[in-house]
Amino acid sequence: MSECAVQRVSKAPVPVPSPYSVLLADHTTLRVGGPASRFVVARTPDEVARLVGEADDAGIPVLILGGGSNMLVCDDGFDGLVVRVAITGLDGNVSDCGGAVVNVGAGEVWDDFVAHAVEQGWSGAEALSGIPGSVGATPIQNVGAYGAEVADHIYSVRTWDRQARAFRTFAAADCEFSYRNSIFKRTPGRYVVVEVSFQFPLGSLSAPIRYAELAGRVGVAVGGRADAALVRSTVLTIRAGKGMVLDAADPDTWSAGSFFTNPIVTEEVAATLPDDAPRFPAGEGMVKTSAAWLIQHSGFEKGYARERAGLSTKHVLALTNRGGASAEEIVALAREVRDRVAERTGIELVPEVNLIGCQL
Ligand SMILES: Cc1cc2nc3c(=O)[nH]c(=O)nc-3n(C[C@H](O)[C@H](O)[C@H](O)COP(=O)(O)OP(=O)(O)OC[C@H]3O[C@@H](n4cnc5c(N)ncnc54)[C@H](O)[C@@H]3O)c2cc1C
Repeated sequence: MSECAVQRVSKAPVPVPSPYSVLLADHTTLRVGGPASRFVVARTPDEVARLVGEADDAGIPVLILGGGSNMLVCDDGFDGLVVRVAITGLDGNVSDCGGAVVNVGAGEVWDDFVAHAVEQGWSGAEALSGIPGSVGATPIQNVGAYGAEVADHIYSVRTWDRQARAFRTFAAADCEFSYRNSIFKRTPGRYVVVEVSFQFPLGSLSAPIRYAELAGRVGVAVGGRADAALVRSTVLTIRAGKGMVLDAADPDTWSAGSFFTNPIVTEEVAATLPDDAPRFPAGEGMVKTSAAWLIQHSGFEKGYARERAGLSTKHVLALTNRGGASAEEIVALAREVRDRVAERTGIELVPEVNLIGCQL
């Protein structure tokens, strides 16, 4: 067997200032949400276990918060304990044989980690550049973009299991990842992610690019590889053009990203859609279509507004706060979009966003 040099990599945890505030609008990218009756910051896995465990013992409802970029919190706020997971730090091993195996604190900012991975020559996360939020939230809905999913490179996920009152580590195969879904999303609130471990091959080239627009922009065929740093910068440019990179000055980004998931329907249902509807294979007898296409086909234009809530002027799938909107205004817009799409196409859109205290 050949010798394999293993290099230790690590980054010291960064102390997080206590961002104590009880208005959840200040902690969500949609900028809506009423007060939390108690708000704490957990900086270590043991703090998560203690804070969440004490609340569970006392029967106090708990809301786990990362970057607040996939949440619509109601105007009444949250009557319970909000635990913001702020566990930082990165360590792992890099070797020619195993590539980079890195353990990342759940509170690290996802896009900072992607930038670091690209700089280090850890290949595979580049197409997921620009997604807001924390590392710990990425396995929850198996974040994805431009033909890549975080599940492609997750090795394991360490959690606090609120039911068993113990730490539990899931191997990737046990996370039940699928399109915008996982065991963590299917059992809401049970598992608090404290650390995510990733495995990446080493190299300056990206993972094979599966998304035609991205492949074209970096000058390769679909399935080809390009310089990972170029892929990252190209993804950031494409995303910014769609209002999908957070920008405090741009209300098109005051959203939770895509509000609805792309519907997966049977071949029979897909056959009822007009010929130009996007169709992608989604497993035996199933077809994935585009929520954005359905919304546009149902007569909504970019920038369509209702009071202070509106569709992004750059992307119909992002419901945005045009400034001072209430959660109820966002909900009313979401209902209008969902209902008209159902009426015109027969397909019911399902929210990708986590609704906290509100219902569509
Ligand atoms: C402009 C914009 C663009 C976006 N683009 C994309 C995209 O391309 N692809 C994509 O998939 N998503 C996208 N999103 C959605 C969002 O960024 C991701 O879902 C992200 O992973 C959410 O991270 P967060 O830390 O902000 O989670 P939060 O919004 O804080 O939480 C989301 C859910 O996860 C739970 N949660 C958070 N942290 C933990 C934890 N440590 N343990 C257990 N549960 C936890 C929360 O309770 C909640 O249910 C976008 C959002 C915005 C605003």
